[in-house]
Amino acid sequence: MSAFVHQNIISARSLLVWLVCVLSGLSVFHYLIRSGWSKRFADPALAQAQIIFAVFAIAAGYTVTETARSAVLLPLVLVLNFGAFSIRWRRMIELTIFALGVMALTMAWMHAHWPNHYSSIVDASNFLLSMVTLPGVAGLAMRLNSLQARLHQQRVELKNALDRIQDLATRDELTGLVNRRRANELLSSQMTRVDRATAPFAIALIDLDHFKRLNDHFGHAGGDQILRRFSEEARGFVRNIDTVARWGGEEFLILMPNADEHFALQLLERLRIHIEGLRTPGTVGEMRFTLSAGVASWRIGQTADETIARADRALYQAKHSGRNCVKAEADTLCDVPVGASGNYD
Ligand code: GH3
Ligand code: MG
Ligand code: MG
Repeated sequence: MSAFVHQNIISARSLLVWLVCVLSGLSVFHYLIRSGWSKRFADPALAQAQIIFAVFAIAAGYTVTETARSAVLLPLVLVLNFGAFSIRWRRMIELTIFALGVMALTMAWMHAHWPNHYSSIVDASNFLLSMVTLPGVAGLAMRLNSLQARLHQQRVELKNALDRIQDLATRDELTGLVNRRRANELLSSQMTRVDRATAPFAIALIDLDHFKRLNDHFGHAGGDQILRRFSEEARGFVRNIDTVARWGGEEFLILMPNADEHFALQLLERLRIHIEGLRTPGTVGEMRFTLSAGVASWRIGQTADETIARADRALYQAKHSGRNCVKAEADTLCDVPVGASGNYD
């Protein structure tokens, strides 16, 4: 530009005024975007406003750059690309027509005021060039826009699929509880926490009593209903930080962070009494069921498997004490001995 000014092709004063206006406009946009003011709009980058401003700036630049004015049309081609990622195709067409209109009016105005000063051949060919290139560039921008939309859609679908896979891999389908695989992961992460902070945790292994009988009496669907009911009740009963997992069949594991054996025993006893009092309507009458549980708290130096094994031993004792019973290795909290035979007999 300075070379053009030097050769008196461009008036230095006009160019200065134009540059000040353009830089001021760009600074305003920069401020509106960086300050977060533009976040209230659907298009926080203010792409449309910036394109409209740029079209006017280029048209003004076209009038002040005299014989160098053809070069000013190059940025016009770039300007429409601003909208490639945020402006819909219909608006893109409107902006292209708008840009061509502004340029046509600018050229017409220049020739109306200074008919002998400007070469009509140059302006006519500049306008023709704009008519060919601008729609082409706008088309390219629209294509980019649709590719981006497709990419976005694919990303959303991929995320949903990953969420679904994650859900399938960590949740039990029947009860919606955490499955055994996820429970083991949670136990491992609990172990890394106890290693660091020696925070205690307790676990409970729960086995529903005489489930085979319940299945025989109420049918498999009735058995499933009981499993779901138990899961709902247990989940509602424990603290937010506890995890209830389906350990397998009619067996469940509860992981209780920051809990000792006494706390776990009391919690499970309350759960046992709550479950004992439940009445679940079934197709062949009211369904009642009980649980037996073994409780163990983690001890320094123990692995998670060893803690589970202790809870399992306590559960075995609970079954042997007549079921409907909660046991830790030392303590027992039992109720009505049911006395029928099952796996643990
Ligand atoms: P115990 O008091 O000794 O635990 O007796 P039990 O009958 O509950 O013990 P057992 O382990 O012998 O039986 C468990 C039954 O649970 C056997 C199996 O058919 C049933 N079962 C396992 N998974 C499901 C399930 O998803 N749905 C239903 N309806 N039944 C299941
Ligand atoms: Mg069992
Ligand atoms: Mg059972």
